This record gives sequence, structure tokens and C-alpha cells, in this order.
Amino acid sequence: MLLTLSTTHRPATDLGFLLHKNPERAQSVDVSAGRVHVFYPEASDERCTVALLLDVDPIALVRNARGTATEGFSLGQYVNDRPYAASSLLAVALGKAFASARRGVSKERPDLVDVALPLEIHLPALSCRGGVEMAQRFFAPLGWTVGARPVPLDETFPHWGDSRYVDLRLTGTQRVADAINHLYVGLPVLDDAKHYWVSSDEIDKLLRAGEGWLATHPDRDLVTRRYLAHRVSFARAAMSRLAEVDDLEPDSLDDAVVTAGSGDEQDERPVPLVLQRHGAVVAALRASGAARVLDLGCGSGALLAALLKEGALTEIVGVDVSHRALEAAARRLHLDRLPDRQRARVTLLQGALTYTDARLRGYDAAVLMEVVEHLDPDRLPALERTVFADAAPGTVIVTTPNVEHNVRYEALLPGGMRHRDHRFEWNRAEFAGWATGVAARRGYAVRFLGVGTDDPEVGPPTQMAVFTRSAAVAGEDAA
Ligand code: SAH
Repeated sequence: MLLTLSTTHRPATDLGFLLHKNPERAQSVDVSAGRVHVFYPEASDERCTVALLLDVDPIALVRNARGTATEGFSLGQYVNDRPYAASSLLAVALGKAFASARRGVSKERPDLVDVALPLEIHLPALSCRGGVEMAQRFFAPLGWTVGARPVPLDETFPHWGDSRYVDLRLTGTQRVADAINHLYVGLPVLDDAKHYWVSSDEIDKLLRAGEGWLATHPDRDLVTRRYLAHRVSFARAAMSRLAEVDDLEPDSLDDAVVTAGSGDEQDERPVPLVLQRHGAVVAALRASGAARVLDLGCGSGALLAALLKEGALTEIVGVDVSHRALEAAARRLHLDRLPDRQRARVTLLQGALTYTDARLRGYDAAVLMEVVEHLDPDRLPALERTVFADAAPGTVIVTTPNVEHNVRYEALLPGGMRHRDHRFEWNRAEFAGWATGVAARRGYAVRFLGVGTDDPEVGPPTQMAVFTRSAAVAGEDAA
């Protein structure tokens, strides 16, 4: 499920300061329902867009809701719209990812916090009970121009009518904090579904988020009822279920319900760096719109497995010089047991990235995740030619360790590297020097992102460069 927020305020990248999210970095945070990725598909002075993508983990959803999410139809816990539609879950993610922004706090640009900026919000699939009219009723009184289009149940059979989903665009001049609070309350209110978090201070949360606008909203009562009603019914269901399982005394149930809550905002489990790297690479691939991708130096295929889950990718090619690594990848992906349609999306190729390889031509994107540091420095020009001149995909994503961060690893000896096969590890300036040189020589634009916690002194543990082939060169190709 996806939400984008854009501004044309100048410089538009001020949005990053207001959201406490650097446009140069893709970031991921875990919430109880899955993982939220925050990234910027565009970030120029004229226009800046932040995207919030919640990857719902249906299993975690059921696990974390154990004892609270009683549904009459138990398969419904696993098979439902939650992974796809913007709903109450996205509101929790939004509240967590933009917690300070929502409170109207900005360290770098406190002066901007109270300024209304030209904003656009897009929710391609909003779960909306009451359809377009309900979306209008909620957002228009708050000063938004509402562009809402019902999503038909099935494009091929228009007479089946509309689904409960709405493609929603909001435009208006608003404070960023207000915009986030409108969504934070609006998403669960419009969704009006039973999948809901249970927590002791739901009323406080509503009043805090609604400060300055809810009291005067023409549909104040409806909004309040919808926001809280399901909590009440859910809490009741949870109590009866808990009573069944744990045989608790009714008096202790209130406490039990509170502790069984998903704890949306206090949930701060760190995400392992390797998964943050997958998240960042996948987010960059999604933003590039790629359908056919190369995973160069795919190793045992951990990223390939993540790429297979991306429905937008029609062709996924893993390349590695090591036959053993490719065998491990085939096992990990269960290639021999995949259904034909899935099997047809993946190819594993043995090859060396330091030699021209015609099989690698014509792809939309290539990933080199933690690969360059495995090559001897004098082989880097050969890799540059193979990848950027011969294969020449539209987008190239490169990740590599940031050696400055090594001092933060207690287990590393001073001057030690992270892996015994690493031939070098670059600091940020060295990586930027190499990447900008490649971009200039090969007709690409490059931007840099950090992956993992950005240490104020030594930077993030992983550095990432996203290269985009310039239009002129792409055009020459077509000619
Ligand atoms: N991308 C994977 C694996 C990284 S380890 C991940 O992030 O988990 C680096 C991989 O690059 C190894 O599998 C190694 O076999 C491969 N590799 C190293 N030099 C290579 C070369 N010249 N051509 C192709 N693959 C190479």
C-alpha cells in the first residue's frame, strides 16, 4: 500500500526537513503489521515527492493481533485486502514514520513548521466505506480539493459496479503537520474496517491528532464514532477471546487488552542491516519503474528471493562468477519446485562481470549489491565497461560498505574489514569519487543514499548509489 506526498514549495526539498527524512536516504522502519519504507521518487528544487510504502506481512498481522483480531471467518485473517489497500494500518505506519512532523517539530526548519505549503497527496487505492462521497465529506471541509475516482470491481465487467476502493488525490495549501494528522485520522475513519489496533489511549490520540480541526468538522460525530467504535467492538471481542484462552478474571481483562495492543508507536525493534539493504534496493527499483532486472554478483540469491515477490518484475536474472553460489541460489529459490509462471521469471547465469557479456544487454535495471568491494581495484575499470557501457541498463544500483562506520563494530579489529574476501572498503568520499567518475564517463546521473542508521560522525553502515542513464545516451541507443 502506497501513499505519496508532493510539494512545489521552493526549494521543494525542504519537505525532507519537515518530515525528518533525508531525501538522499531510503529508510525502513518496522511496525507491527510489517515494514514501512520511506523514500523520495523525486527530489529537485522545483518538486519533491516522498513515498511511504507499507509492506504488510499478513502472518505478522495475525500473530501480533493474536487475542484481539477475532474474525468469524478465520481464513479472512490471511486472505484479505490489507496488503494492498490504504487503510488503518497505513495510518499507524504514517504516525510512526512521521512522528515528529505530525507534532509540528522540525530541528532544521522550525520557521517552516507553521507555514502552509502547496501539497498534493495521492492514495491510489484507499479503502473507503461510503466511496467517493464519503472521501469528499471528510477532506473537503478541511480545505482540500478532492479528486476521487471509484475503482471498479473489475475493469472488464463495468456492470459489476464499483469496489469499496477509491483512487484519491488531495491538493491544497496546508501545514505539513496538519496534512499528516488529517490522514492519520482520515484513513481509519474511511476504511471503517475491523482490522484495528487496540491501545489504551485511543481517545487521547484522536483528540491530539484532531487538534484545531476536528471540533469544528461538520461530521465530527461520525468521525469520532467511526474512529473509536471499532476499537470498542474489537476490545469486546478481544476480551471474550482472551477469557476463553486464558481463563482470566473479568477484572483483569482491561490490563490484558492494553498489553495485547500492537503498540504501534513504541515498537522500535531494529531491522537487520541486510534487510534494510534489500528494502532500499527494492524501493529504488520500484521508483525506477523497472520490469526486467539483473542482480549482478547475486551470490546465494537472498535478494533474488525478495525480487521474486515484486509483482512488477517480469524478468529477474541472477549473475555470478561462482557456480557454487548459483547452486545455493537455485536451492534457496526452490527453482525445481516453482510453478511454471514463477519459474519463467527467473534465470541464473554464470558469468564474470569483468568481461563483455551480450546476455546482459537491454535490461531496465542492474543491481550490484555488496559486489564491487570483492574485485581487485585494478579490475574496476573492466567492471565499469561491462556494466555501464556494454550492458548499459537504464538504472544501476550499487551498494558497498562505508568503511568509516567500521569503528562502530566492536567485533572488528582496528583497520579490519567486514568480510575476508573484501579487497578494499571505501569511505564516503572514495565511493562518491568512483561513482561520479563512472557517471561522467558513461553518461549517467548519480545520486547517493545511506542505508542503516546515519551516524552523525561516521555516516551510515552501507552506502548506495543510484545511477540513471541520461536521456541523450538512451536516445542514441534507440537510434
Ligand atoms: N549480492 C549478494 C552477494 C554479495 S558477495 C549479496 O549482497 O548478498 C559478492 C558476490 O560477487 C559473490 O557471490 C561473488 O562470487 C561475486 N563476484 C565477485 N567477483 C565477481 C565477478 N568478477 N563476476 C561475477 N561475480 C563476482
